[in-house]
Amino acid sequence: SLSDRLTGALKDLRGKGRLTDADIDATAREIRLALLEADVSLPVVRTFISRIKQRAKGQEVSGALNPAQQIVKIVNEELIAILGGETRRIQLAKTPPTVIMLAGLQGAGKTTLAGKLAAWLTKQGHTPILVACDLQRPGAVQQLQIVGDRAGVPVFAPNAGTSVGGEGDLGTDGSGDPVAVATDGVAYARDKQYDVVIIDTAGRLGIDEVLMGQAAAIRDATEPDEVLFVLDAMIGQDAVSTAQAFAEGVDFTGVVLTKLDGDARGGAALSVREITGRPIMFASTGEKLEEFDVFHPDRMSSRILGMGDVLSLIEQAEQHWDAAEAEAAAEKISQGELTLDDFLQQMLMIRKMGPIGNLLGMLPGAGDMKDALSQVDDSQLDKIQAIIRGMTPAERDDPKIINASRRIRIANGSGVTVTDVNQLVDRFFAARKMMSQMSGRMGMPGAGKRNA
Ligand code: GDP
Ligand code: MG
Repeated sequence: SLSDRLTGALKDLRGKGRLTDADIDATAREIRLALLEADVSLPVVRTFISRIKQRAKGQEVSGALNPAQQIVKIVNEELIAILGGETRRIQLAKTPPTVIMLAGLQGAGKTTLAGKLAAWLTKQGHTPILVACDLQRPGAVQQLQIVGDRAGVPVFAPNAGTSVGGEGDLGTDGSGDPVAVATDGVAYARDKQYDVVIIDTAGRLGIDEVLMGQAAAIRDATEPDEVLFVLDAMIGQDAVSTAQAFAEGVDFTGVVLTKLDGDARGGAALSVREITGRPIMFASTGEKLEEFDVFHPDRMSSRILGMGDVLSLIEQAEQHWDAAEAEAAAEKISQGELTLDDFLQQMLMIRKMGPIGNLLGMLPGAGDMKDALSQVDDSQLDKIQAIIRGMTPAERDDPKIINASRRIRIANGSGVTVTDVNQLVDRFFAARKMMSQMSGRMGMPGAGKRNA
């Protein structure tokens, strides 16, 4: 995964004041691969990476993050900005009904979306109606009627007895005129005071002039407030040419990504957003009515990067990292002056960040402390915490005074055995010595002046 690659490439970088060009290049290479793997189109990747490099140059290294994480953070922020920079809601018509037209290839999920959108709008107090303008595919009108029933909204489909409408523009063989149905549908909605009209249209398997011509004709006849381009996230790199064709042929106002419940990495979203400049407004994540939501740029970014865990760790580390405290501890470590209280404080700070196991490689400033702590699991940490809390301040400050009788008292007070206390004290001295030596090797100032 990307996070493994990044950790591998950059694990030795610690304690630098600034990202070097080499750090940035190495990280950018890995992110470039991740974006390509996520099906972001090459030109978009190029532009994006050069933007990232620009921004990463000259950045101060944060105390909480290592250089790789810092660049990942920048990438994540930029992705979110691009994906969601202009997120907006449905534009409602000043005079109802608001007309929303759906366009996209066959199988993209238009008909399914019509129902989801209608249910979603109903929840917000609207009274939508669906209009069946896919007269191409046998059964398409009936499919929309089923969808409408499920969503609890009416369907305007002249040739079917169960539906509203019935003006007779259609033969039951589906040979009618979709433009006429669309205009009739809008007129019907206006007449019956439905406030949103959702027009379901026909798609083809590929881009097709007849299809584009029909969609453009429906658009011209109904003057929609929104034309939503419905895009199957699973089509990968083809998303770009498809989106371009629809942008030229129909000129949509927003994008809906479907089938995000599949294993697509979502790069199509970024490409389409970059290339067409149109916002992604909704996301569909399943066949059921409620598997639908407004688009969340942060979720998509984490999906594209394929490193949700890393991103949430970055967030946690930044939230809980106290730079001043970490620096003070590092200084004490290098002096061999760490007390049991410091030990406890550091431990608590690290625990706040999440399970210890997730944190390896996370803590550039407290790397040594982390190495020592990584050998204990959470239940042991509870015990250690109890023991240290059972000590007097003087004992915590200068553990050398903890003699045999004090050990018995501490053990009794914290509900552990004397052996537990012995182990902790021994481990603490060993860790303190090791950390002091390590910080000496790392060239920290004042190292080794005093030993534990
Ligand atoms: P249309 O040709 O554009 O109208 O596409 P449909 O709405 O008929 O959808 C085509 C197929 O994709 C149907 O089997 C839908 O149930 C399915 N589908 C639509 N949206 C989603 C989605 O978000 N996730 C999944 N897994 N399937 C979807
Ligand atoms: Mg359909």
